[in-house]
Formats: sequence, structure tokens, C-alpha cells
Amino acid sequence: MQAFEATNYYFDQAARRLDLSENIRTLLMTPDREVRVEVAIELDSGKIGNFIGYRVQHDNARGPYKGGLRYHPAVDQDEARSLASLMTWKTAVVDLPFGGAKGGVNCDPTKLSRGELERLTRKFIEKIHDMIGPDKDIPAPDMGTDAQVMAWIMNEYGKYEGFQPACVTGKPVEFHGSAGREAATGFGLAIVTREMLGRSNRTVAGTTFAIQGYGNVGSFTARFLGQMGGKIVAVSDAYGAIVNPEGLDLAELDRHVSVSHKVVGYKGGDAATNEQLLTMSVDVLIPAALGGVFDRDLARAVQAGLIVEAANGPTWPEADEVFVERGIPVVPDVLANAGGVVVSYFEWVQNLQHFRWPIEQVQREEERRLVDAFREIHDLAERKSVSLRTAAFMKAISRVGRAKILGGI
Ligand code: NAD
Repeated sequence: MQAFEATNYYFDQAARRLDLSENIRTLLMTPDREVRVEVAIELDSGKIGNFIGYRVQHDNARGPYKGGLRYHPAVDQDEARSLASLMTWKTAVVDLPFGGAKGGVNCDPTKLSRGELERLTRKFIEKIHDMIGPDKDIPAPDMGTDAQVMAWIMNEYGKYEGFQPACVTGKPVEFHGSAGREAATGFGLAIVTREMLGRSNRTVAGTTFAIQGYGNVGSFTARFLGQMGGKIVAVSDAYGAIVNPEGLDLAELDRHVSVSHKVVGYKGGDAATNEQLLTMSVDVLIPAALGGVFDRDLARAVQAGLIVEAANGPTWPEADEVFVERGIPVVPDVLANAGGVVVSYFEWVQNLQHFRWPIEQVQREEERRLVDAFREIHDLAERKSVSLRTAAFMKAISRVGRAKILGGI
């Protein structure tokens, strides 16, 4: 099964419970537009680097397309399609006036110099600038891209369309970005996890966590859960994992990572593999790296009591079924990691108004939106006796379907 098929499997599970005609189902599943472009740049060596970039615009019934740009060797049309569709459902779950899109460039950003990355980004925007913009499609960071890449995008876009900071979100705070955007996904993850634990009368304090992936999302998630009293007992990255049953000292770990750029080698924990981390006995397991992590066998081996999906699409449908059978609740990506797009929305609003919000306002509003969305989805799941994922898709499909009907096909 491929990633887009998996997203559609979840879509179908929810759509079956709604009174949708076959035509509306097809309309909602099919992406509006898919673009594939060649991104050729001069490498530092003087040779030509040929890369392929993608942008998939899935649906804009509720507002402009919105979704990240990923720089990673696994980026392809199918992945972009799957992630674009997830964005449509995610923006609807948290009730933002956006649709869904996703894209990226197939490359290994760790092997490109800063100059090569800048040229790659500018060339990609040169190729797609006519299809993005504040009222059309608004990119944001994802795996392998960061605030600097977003700043290059804004600058390059401005060469064609004039000064329009709202054309991209996740920019540096001192360059039209929003306070709190960098930490927003991790902050939101911690809020949603707190709410989920609260439903079984538990608190973050005293709860143990294992986090796969210690990049933007994983590290901020760890930090906020740590601040709430949670015990982070294991984290990992592409090079391996470290474990300390007494809880990792995150400040020390961050100092180590800032120098060595990997978690392995940190003296305050024992080395382990990613596989060991994913099957550890912990209260909460948080996948915060790639998609497609849990297959059927791994799902059977998981020992955590709760899974909160920070990554997009970490669970294959076959694994999801095992989690349901085993009674392991999963807080789905479209709800758990929506904090990033919520604050991207705030950034867009601030850019359009040329007005800045203080961090307290950003975090207060983010928390309010996520708590409201969590309660709505959790209550729906209980009322209909379905998983949180099915409830989230049901809510999202209803909202997007209604917008399509109101707006007219
Ligand atoms: P990032 O590039 O900052 O970090 C990714 C981390 O995953 C790195 O630590 C990397 O070493 C690690 N990793 C890569 N391959 C791995 C492997 N095989 N095993 C273990 N670790 C591995 O990316 P990010 O922005 O933190 O995104 C992580 C996930 O969260 C992605 O699935 C992304 O789509 C999702 N997400 C990100 C945001 C955001 O605001 N950045 C918002 C919503 C969802």
C-alpha cells in the first residue's frame, strides 16, 4: 500500500459512516491540481544538480490551499498527494479557513551547502510562483526545511509578485514570522497529550514518554512535556536512540545536540536502536519523524499505553487495526500535530493585517483552538463509538463536504 492509499483508507472508514454520495466521495478524495517541475541548479562543484519538485493542491473549498514543503530523498508525487490530502482534513479538524496542499523537492538537504539550498529553493519558487500566494496556496516548513528556507521563499516570490509576506508561513520572527511558530507544533502536541491523559484522570506529570525523532517537532514536544513534569525516558533521530529510565536531562541533551547534531553520544543515557525505542514499555509513545513507521508486526510489539502522532502518517492502516484490537488509543496526526498550522494561520492573519501578536496571545489562542478541537473530536468518538482518527475524519469530511455544497461545484 502507498501513502495516498493509506490516507484514503482512513477517509473511507469515516466516509462510510456519513451519508455521502459516491460522487461527493470521489470529489473529496481527488486532488485539484498536481505539479511536477524540474529544479536544476549549479552545484558548488560547478556540476549541474537535477532535482524534481512537487506541489499538490488537494482541496480549497474552505479557503486557500495550505501545507508544508519537504526536502527529503523520499519525496515523490504519491507522498505529496497523501500529505496534501491530510492537510485538507487537518485544517478542517481545527476549523481554519484553509484547504490542503503539500510539496517538496526530492533531495538530501544534509548533503547540500547553504548556497545550494538557497539556489534550489529560489529555482523551485521560480517554477511554481504563479500557483502560490496569500490567497491561493501558502507553503510552510516541514521535514528538511526551516525558517531560513521560508525567508528565501518570501523574497523570491516578492521578485515576481511584490511584497507579500503572507505568501508563506514559518518565516523567521525578525522577518515577518510569528512569535511561537517554531515551537507551535511541539507546544500543541503537549497540549493535546495533556487533554488526552486528562480524559483518563492522568496528568503529564509523572507520565513516561518515548519520542522518535528529535528535530523541530520532537525536541519542542519533549521540552513542553518536560516543563509540565513529564519524564522523557527515550528520544531518537536518524542515527539512533538514547534511553534513561530516570528521565533525560533535556537541557544537557540540547547542549549535546547543538554541538554534535545527533542524540547518540549523549552521556546522560544509554545507546539504543529506533526499534528498541518504539517497543519500549512507556506510558506514551510519540512518533515525530517519518511517515509509515508502524506496520502490523511493529504494532503488535508496541508496549506503550497511548500513541500520539506527531509525524504525519506514521501508522499504516494494518497497524491502526492492531492498535484498535489491542485497545491502544491513538491520537491521530490530523489532530495531534495541528498546532503548527494553527500558528501558521495566526502568522498569515498578522501578515495580512501588518500587525504583530505577543507570544502570550499566540500560545493562548493556539491552546484554545486545540482544546476545543480535541473536545469536539473526543466527544464525537465516544458518541459514535469510533476511534479518534475516524471521528477526526468524520468531522473534517463533514466540514469540507458542506463547504463544497454551499459554494457550488
Ligand atoms: P525535522 O527535519 O526537523 O526533524 C526530523 C527528525 O526525525 C530528525 O531528528 C531526524 O534525524 C529524525 N529522523 C529521520 N529519519 C528517522 C528515522 N528513520 N528514525 C528516527 N528518526 C528519524 O522535521 P520536523 O519538522 O520535526 O517534522 C517531523 C514530522 O512532523 C514530519 O512527519 C512532519 O511532516 C511532521 N510535522 C511537522 C510540522 C512542523 O511544524 N514542522 C507540523 C506538523 C507535522
